[in-house]
Amino acid sequence: MPKLHPSDKALVPFVSVENMMKLVHHIGIEPMLQGLADYIEADFRRWELFDKTPRVASHSDEGVIELMPTSDGEVYGFKYVNGHPRNTRAGLQTVTAFGLLANVGNGYPVLLSEMTLLTALRTAATSAMAARHLAPRGADTMAMIGAGAQSEFQSLAMKAVCGLKSVRLHDIDPAATAKAERNLAGSGLTVVPCESAETAMEGAQIITTCTADKQYATILSDNMVGSGVHINAIGGDCPGKTELAPGVLQRAEIFVEYPEQTRVEGEIQQLAPDHPVTQMWQVLAGTAPGRTGAGQITLFDSVGFAIEDFSALRFVRDRVGGTGLVQELDMLADPDDPRDLFGMLARAAPAAG
Ligand code: NAD
Repeated sequence: MPKLHPSDKALVPFVSVENMMKLVHHIGIEPMLQGLADYIEADFRRWELFDKTPRVASHSDEGVIELMPTSDGEVYGFKYVNGHPRNTRAGLQTVTAFGLLANVGNGYPVLLSEMTLLTALRTAATSAMAARHLAPRGADTMAMIGAGAQSEFQSLAMKAVCGLKSVRLHDIDPAATAKAERNLAGSGLTVVPCESAETAMEGAQIITTCTADKQYATILSDNMVGSGVHINAIGGDCPGKTELAPGVLQRAEIFVEYPEQTRVEGEIQQLAPDHPVTQMWQVLAGTAPGRTGAGQITLFDSVGFAIEDFSALRFVRDRVGGTGLVQELDMLADPDDPRDLFGMLARAAPAAG
């Protein structure tokens, strides 16, 4: 008897926002950030194996909507993500996302997940993974400029992965600084709210810029940046949307995810197209040097790359099993006779009379 409904066969596990929050607390925020950093680093080490393409971006005056696909030959993944800097004024998130993993062998999805929280976690884990290799030895103080949705995640990842002890917060909106200070109270970090970016940078060996503004902004000007620091530049991630003065870039050793994407979207869109940069995966694979001197300024020009989302989804897939934190979604039509899609539809017609 052909079945009316395919539900015993092709259900797709789905992790909702509510269940993602439960999963993060089940694992623990800091252990999860450490785990994500390790998964991302492991995938960066096998970088050459992946299908890579700059993300497909649809720009508007208000923001951008992007698709970020990749595959390691066995598993395919993609993320849908937006970036709308003015959204917060309407009570909406600047960045929201969801993503999917699929079996390359038959194309069937194996996981669908919320990725707004997961993007904040993976972006922070990627920052910390890069800082673990590039920040000066013994770095324990970070200036966090921009105290929006990403900021606590960035701070906690640096603590969990790099041993950060103190974070100096600055946002042009004092309410955002106060929110981040509140959220980080009890985290074990010493949190210092600061009235200016300059004050926030005093004594910091790591400087994270994580602001949102759709313009060529100057969060860090050349004279603000001393030698020997590591800059983790998160907010410059779209054409026409940057945070650092070109003079800072000229003095820094620049590390990127995927140059083809970063040259369009990152801080380095302000430089000549052949300005030398180092790919982060090569540092991890040992084929390119990371920091080579105490006086060097290292810059991780982060824009976010598909492999990081793939790693994050892989982590969730591996850890969510047995927790009861998935819902099974009926999102694939899968008739018993694969060629009888129409028959399955016809049998689902309401009975006459
Ligand atoms: P958000 O809107 O929640 O927070 C941004 C904060 O920056 C706000 O609190 C705002 O008041 C502050 N700000 C703006 N201009 C400033 C200035 N001149 N000085 C100090 N503070 C300033 O945004 P979010 O979700 O935290 O994201 C921050 C940025 O990171 C965005 O630009 C986003 O596109 C980017 N992002 C990058 C990645 C990546 O992988 N690189 C991932 C996620 C988000």
